[in-house]
Amino acid sequence: MASSRLDFLFCHLCGTMLTVPNSEYAVCPLCKTLRDIQDIRDKEIGYTIYAEDIRRELGIEIIEEQKVQLSKVNKKCEKCGHDEANFYTRQMRSADEGQTTFYTCTRCGHQSQEN
Ligand SMILES: [Zn+2]
Ligand SMILES: [Zn+2]
Repeated sequence: MASSRLDFLFCHLCGTMLTVPNSEYAVCPLCKTLRDIQDIRDKEIGYTIYAEDIRRELGIEIIEEQKVQLSKVNKKCEKCGHDEANFYTRQMRSADEGQTTFYTCTRCGHQSQEN
């Protein structure tokens, strides 16, 4: 996943992208808030390590983390008896929910799921 190193170069007050006039500090062009470059660097490191925790804290739903895969499998449809189905698994965010596998019959579209 391509995550910009500049993600934290935004003003925490107004959200404007900060400018970096020198190596000492960053400044918000709108509200003139100064931020120490060292502070931003620390957050970048923290972001790398704790990215998942931060996203969970912020309640951001990360679609690519659901790891949706679609492929065919030999599974007998309980409705029409066809023996081929598309299936994909979805890993739920919370560990106690585990992984759910969804099957869709390639002939009649009947859906079933297994945990
Ligand atoms: Zn600002
Ligand atoms: Zn079917």
